[in-house]
Amino acid sequence: MTVHIHPAVDNGVKQGSGTFAGGTLVCKCTDRPVKIGIKGDVAHNHACGCTKCWKPEGATFSIVAVVPRQNVTVLENGDKLQIVDPSAVIQRYACKVCGTHMYGRIENTGHPFYGLDFIHPELFQEGGWAAPGFAAFVSSVIESGVKPEEMEGIRARLKELGLEPYDCLSPPLMDAIATHTAKAKAKAA
Ligand SMILES: [Zn+2]
Ligand SMILES: [Zn+2]
Repeated sequence: MTVHIHPAVDNGVKQGSGTFAGGTLVCKCTDRPVKIGIKGDVAHNHACGCTKCWKPEGATFSIVAVVPRQNVTVLENGDKLQIVDPSAVIQRYACKVCGTHMYGRIENTGHPFYGLDFIHPELFQEGGWAAPGFAAFVSSVIESGVKPEEMEGIRARLKELGLEPYDCLSPPLMDAIATHTAKAKAKAA
């Protein structure tokens, strides 16, 4: 049985150029697509199994990365954007017509990831962006309909692709969150 992760990695993870200077994210609309300009390369690119991240038709995981929020600019057809769930921590701006999530923004200044926007690098019309390096929230794919007995195959495939599977975020990101929390506690004390 073939295990599908995401079309961008199913044929192997394409390494980044290391010199990606940014580009344009484009939604799936043929008429008046939403275009978002991104300055510079992406960071912490990964496959994500959570139920909130946007993924293309048929994909089990999303591919998601972060960029500094000041590097994100709506270039064209921003009138088609709407926030998927205004009550969510990450305000995901999606195209009203095709449903593609264009960027996710955190407005809570106390959040560990405040200042970073979440984007889906596969939407770049250019290639060369930093490759995904791990897989997060792997067990959560069960919540989107994957059978528990398929998990062994999925984890094995992720490892084969060099995307180490984690059931939360990667250790460096979990450490970053804990450091932020510890600092916030120290300040409050
Ligand atoms: Zn669209
Ligand atoms: Zn996710």
